[in-house]
Amino acid sequence: MDEKKTESRCPNCNSFLYYIEADNEIPYEGKITIHTYVCKNCNYKNITIDRHEKGEPKIIKFKIKNKNDLKTIVYRSPDASVHIPELEAEISPGIASKGYITTIEGILTSIKEKLSIMGDDENINVLRQRIEGIISGAEESVTIILDDDSGQSRINSSRVEIIKKK
Ligand SMILES: [Zn+2]
Repeated sequence: MDEKKTESRCPNCNSFLYYIEADNEIPYEGKITIHTYVCKNCNYKNITIDRHEKGEPKIIKFKIKNKNDLKTIVYRSPDASVHIPELEAEISPGIASKGYITTIEGILTSIKEKLSIMGDDENINVLRQRIEGIISGAEESVTIILDDDSGQSRINSSRVEIIKKK
């Protein structure tokens, strides 16, 4: 790992930043390059990641049918948005979105947490209760849809339906 002094200045303390480039290989994403700008004075760090392996744009659908399905492993790539049409819920990829490995339950929980931030509206409370019902025992059957232009996301189940995007 080489580090180079750059002409850029630290946004915190105005010292010169150092640049480090590192290649790596990670599960699900394959080859990546990590670009790090670091300030030796105040430890400020700015990290960006280039992903080199792109798959075919695709949509992955998974219907939750029982409590066991909640434990299904999901990899959501940074490009993927998550929809649950029955709940009219959606998680969009943000600018600083990172890929992560989670479970179906983890996705439902993060939607529930997002709803908590949105406040105390009656519709939101109803939606939150429905999600709690699904988490506690699959009270209703809903569909998780991952829409991913990088094609790297996956849901580890033999019951997934994969639709290629044009
Ligand atoms: Zn600094």
